Amino acid sequence: MVRFKRSIYLSVMFSLLTMLSIVLAQAAVDIFTLKRLSAGSTGFERQWVEGAALLGDVAYAAEAFRMDEVEGALALGQPGRNAAAAAATLRRRNVNDDERLYKNLMAANRHGGLAAFDAAWARYMADDAAWRRGPGNGQALPGGRLDTDYAKVSQAITAQVDVHEAAGLRRAAAEARMARGAIRLNIAAALLSVVLAAVTLAAAKHFVLAPLRAIARAMTRLAAGARDIAMPGRNRHDEIGEMATACEVFRLNVLALDRAHEAARQAEEQAQLLARHDALTGLPNRRVFSADLEAAVARAQKGQASYALLLIDLDDFKKVNDIQGHQAGDLVLCAVARRLEAAVRKQDTLARLGGDEFAIITQGGPDFYEHQDQTRRFAARLLGLIRHPIEMGETKAEIGASIGICLFQAGAGDVTSLLRAADIAMYRAKQSGRFTFRFFEQSMDDEMRAREALERDVARAITDGSIKPHYQPLVDIGRGRIRGFEALARWTHPTRGAVPPDEFIPIIEQLGLTGELSSAILRQACRDARNWPDDICVAVNISPFELKDEDFPVRITKILQEEGLAPNRLEVEITESALVSDLPAAKAILNALQANGVTISLDDFGTGYSSLYHLRELKFDKVKIDRSFVQAMRGNAESEKIIDAILGLTCSLHLPTVAEGIEDLPTLRMLTAKGCELGQGYYFGKAIPAEAVDALLARGVEAAPAA
Ligand code: C2E
Ligand code: MG
Ligand code: MG
Repeated sequence: MVRFKRSIYLSVMFSLLTMLSIVLAQAAVDIFTLKRLSAGSTGFERQWVEGAALLGDVAYAAEAFRMDEVEGALALGQPGRNAAAAAATLRRRNVNDDERLYKNLMAANRHGGLAAFDAAWARYMADDAAWRRGPGNGQALPGGRLDTDYAKVSQAITAQVDVHEAAGLRRAAAEARMARGAIRLNIAAALLSVVLAAVTLAAAKHFVLAPLRAIARAMTRLAAGARDIAMPGRNRHDEIGEMATACEVFRLNVLALDRAHEAARQAEEQAQLLARHDALTGLPNRRVFSADLEAAVARAQKGQASYALLLIDLDDFKKVNDIQGHQAGDLVLCAVARRLEAAVRKQDTLARLGGDEFAIITQGGPDFYEHQDQTRRFAARLLGLIRHPIEMGETKAEIGASIGICLFQAGAGDVTSLLRAADIAMYRAKQSGRFTFRFFEQSMDDEMRAREALERDVARAITDGSIKPHYQPLVDIGRGRIRGFEALARWTHPTRGAVPPDEFIPIIEQLGLTGELSSAILRQACRDARNWPDDICVAVNISPFELKDEDFPVRITKILQEEGLAPNRLEVEITESALVSDLPAAKAILNALQANGVTISLDDFGTGYSSLYHLRELKFDKVKIDRSFVQAMRGNAESEKIIDAILGLTCSLHLPTVAEGIEDLPTLRMLTAKGCELGQGYYFGKAIPAEAVDALLARGVEAAPAA
């Protein structure tokens, strides 16, 4: 559909031109009327007024003629009569002249005729001439016929004057009519102009002012922040439509700007959030924590309050991460974050410092000891919350934590020393068996320094070969024959003496040096075993972390080749925790090792997770019953039943089984009676250095004597 563009400008111009036309037409009519009136008046004046004057002159001359006639009749002498006659002749000429002038003036007017006067005047002149020629030479007073003639002349002039009067009246009536017509026309034009002006005004109000106001209101609302505005007048096709469209475009631009502004604001907010928050858990990060701690230290220095700084480190989180995967680790961290969040107050600071480390700063009252009690209860509550199992799809993760606490008030050290103090307390908690908390005490600082030194030393010990394998015999308990040795890492510290593996292996794991330790122990074990009889095998313990390393079988094979030990003389002991994270990957690694002829033992059987499941899923060559069952067996019917069940199971699966932790003869007898073929424990011997192995092999161990 073709839309015609309307224009307010053209409409206004049309209105104004119409009004102007009316005014001009009105003026033209007025001018025309006035001209006509003026022309009429001039003509009337020339013909009828001058004519009436000439008639007056004619009447006057006729009357003077009559008087001269009378004067001549009354004159006593001839000279008087002659003078009167001469005057009369002059008057008669005047009459004729004036009559001629009148006739000339009125020549074009049909009412200007003087026929009646001419007839009366001719008769009067004839009778006058007769009177002058009559007896008495006209001495007698004129009268009779002459009076009658004169009266008729006078009547004729009066009648003609009446004609002039009638013409004047007609003329006046015509002019009055014309004036009335002009007035009516003027009134009509004025009314039309008023109506037109009113219509124009109403139209301007309705079509121009009201829409303009509506647009102005919409723009005011837009300026005030409203955005959901329907811009009025957009459907119009005139200048207001153009303006409304322009305003709508402006509104859309404002909306786009708003959106861009909002996006920029969100991006900035996000950047702020990222700068201040930990991306995984959403908790404040180390930056926020440091600032808050500094502020707390400043307030504490002023003696305004006492504070508690709690460093929370998850226990065995690294295992979850390495064994169950990073996704599971992330889940655990988020779950712990939410639990901690629920436990802290609004005014406390809770932050994730990184990894599995969280921190809390709480403000206490002025009483330091009361604050200490409160913090103790708070820490215990936190531990309880963290220990609660974490649902992870079909499985659950049970995680613990160690908390180090440092209370500070006026006179406290700086941020670095406080952090170090809390850190030391946290390590003390870890050393104290984990799942616990410790308050910092000055004495811990020295121990911490010692621990740090130990960390340095243990790292050096791996590289310089100070950590060596000792060998504990694995015995055929029925025959009292040594079947092999388990390589157990031993470290003699230059100043501290022997450090137990339970102490240094976790440090090595924390330092991420497990692979290096395993390789060093394995290489040394191979070298040592190479000197033993061929039927004596060597068992090495493998850290869970290594079962995630695809290259692990290649590494082992390479070491076996380099050290010249037959793969069938090597046993690899793995604990169940190593299998939990990625069973298919562990399976592939173990299969590869078995394919090379290496034996795989399931260590510490019964203490791990889903032992039976793992027995079914993986093809183990040997099972080692954890020493806790063996040692509890004597005098504990339940443990004995468990040993019976395990032996029954492994027997039916044709799996050789080693009982760990045999310390005395009664235990050995019980196990022999139950059909257990292999054993290990202090009864046969503790782990001995490589140099002592030959002697032990030569000496042999004691078999179980018959009861
Ligand atoms: P494990 O593999 O179960 O090793 C057996 C542990 O039981 C050894 O402790 C051994 O000394 C101890 N033991 C043996 N017989 C008896 C007994 O009759 N009574 C008692 N009470 N204990 C006995 P150790 O040497 O302290 O090792 C502890 C754990 O450290 C080992 O447990 C093993 O898991 C780990 N470990 C030791 N050496 C290495 C190593 O070279 N690499 C790795 N990754 N782990 C190792
Ligand atoms: Mg072992
Ligand atoms: Mg064991």
